[in-house]
Amino acid sequence: MDPTELLRLGVYGQLSVDPSDVQTASLDFGMLSRAEPWAVLHPASADDITRVVKAAYESEAHGFTISARGHGHSINGQAQTSNGVVIQMSGSRGRRLGSSTPAALRPHVYEKERYVDVWGGELWIDVLRSTLEHGLAPKSWTDYLYLSVGGTLSNAGISGQAFHQGPQITNVHELDVVTGKGELLTCSEEQNSGLFHAVLGGLGQFGIITRARISLEPAPKRVRWIRVLYSDFSTFTRDQEYLISLHELPASQKFDYVEGFVIVDEGLINNWRSSFFSPRNPVKITSLGTDGGVLYCLEITKNYDESTADTTDQEVESLLKKLNFIQSSVFTTDLLYVDFLDRVHKAELKLRSKGLWEVPHPWLNLFIPKSRIADFDKGVFKGILGNKTGGPILIYPMNKHKWDNRSSVVTPDEDVFYLVAFLRSALDNGEEMQSLEYLNHQNRQILKFCDEAGIKAKQYLPHYTTQEEWVDHFGDKWGQFYQRKMEFDPRYILATGQRIFKPSF
Ligand code: FAD
Repeated sequence: MDPTELLRLGVYGQLSVDPSDVQTASLDFGMLSRAEPWAVLHPASADDITRVVKAAYESEAHGFTISARGHGHSINGQAQTSNGVVIQMSGSRGRRLGSSTPAALRPHVYEKERYVDVWGGELWIDVLRSTLEHGLAPKSWTDYLYLSVGGTLSNAGISGQAFHQGPQITNVHELDVVTGKGELLTCSEEQNSGLFHAVLGGLGQFGIITRARISLEPAPKRVRWIRVLYSDFSTFTRDQEYLISLHELPASQKFDYVEGFVIVDEGLINNWRSSFFSPRNPVKITSLGTDGGVLYCLEITKNYDESTADTTDQEVESLLKKLNFIQSSVFTTDLLYVDFLDRVHKAELKLRSKGLWEVPHPWLNLFIPKSRIADFDKGVFKGILGNKTGGPILIYPMNKHKWDNRSSVVTPDEDVFYLVAFLRSALDNGEEMQSLEYLNHQNRQILKFCDEAGIKAKQYLPHYTTQEEWVDHFGDKWGQFYQRKMEFDPRYILATGQRIFKPSF
């Protein structure tokens, strides 16, 4: 199809070739790659998406590709395309459609059933705001809420609640999906279940999520947020693993959120994720007597409201008593639930004001099997990293049985595995250790180390450039992944920015 013919497709939203729309769609948070689409669709409804995907699927001579773009917070161009249309999912509701916004695109909370129906491009912050009006909230989160529902469900969506609630993809009842053939299908465990499981964690390969029905729970009012430090890695991981083993106990006997991070440099204490420690809680690494200069911070929370406020202190105390952190290192803060969930946004605003948000982000996220996490610590945190990290390094374990193996996502083959997230920013400030080249090289070294040490790591938010690497990534699941692709997007139209399948045109 000639790009100008696209404009004759007759969509109700807006098919734009405006340079500023094209420019926005050609970039992402990673700022590492760039591809300009022919046009950007701001859909008015799922029907617009169906129309454009169908045109791409049925186009005989000159096909084109379609990439849904949630909020463009990928790292490596996963939502980009240079030979087709980007469908801008977030911001379409209301931004261009004014008061004629179809009611179907607004979050709809079902109080009795405890779920919410949302547009696939809805940002999680807006899902939270809508559900809080009913005293309810989703159960499983990401650390940052300015991500779209369709974008995180295409990966997994994880945070410190995943150990007991599972990732976001296990908290979805139903989806509406436009497949690569341009069909709009409703899917769930019961209906079109193959498509349902394929799309969850499916990297946008099988369809575009236009509606998701997300499970809710009563929203707590407040959060007790605690950080404690460790100098010994095995004590740290033993405590983390102990805490996640409590997943089936009643809420009063476990924490609601378990995460952690690695501190290899003093600078990190003042880092965006660590502003917690200061100014009221100044902390000096050197004062804590670290082993090899590395500290580990366990981060836990306890949710509560008026009815449980009296017992919260006791519950927290009795859980902390079972842990072996450095006793002088307990940092506690207390805040509204919504402020806890939205914590990274505050850091974003700070970084933006210093011009440090829109910089390249060579992030690397790995799932590491529990049996090899100590080797990873020795080889990477105490080895490859040196004493400057360039950004936060998260580390927390999850229970594999909380993940549904029928979804497309791949995780290590052990009951417990860790997320290790190197969330680093490259700066052009003349410091070699903060340069993009240096950080990219270090990422390659980390992957090589895992490979050579036989650590069966899996990338989360994976990025590969050859199909051979993808086949290796999916392992046993590749056959099913490929079959699902042939069934739901046989012309390889969708999400080509993932670089898994190449369209034939
Ligand atoms: P995009 O980058 O726009 O798209 C990602 C992929 O999904 C693309 O392939 C795209 O084509 C596809 N896609 C987008 N929308 C749809 C749709 N409606 N239907 C089908 N496919 C679609 N992840 C976590 O799990 N936990 C975290 O705590 C976390 N924190 C983060 C913090 C920051 C600051 C950032 C930048 C990212 C973080 N992420 C986290 C990663 C994030 O979940 C992924 O990058 C996610 O893809 C971003 O969502 P998005 O809406 O921006 O997606």
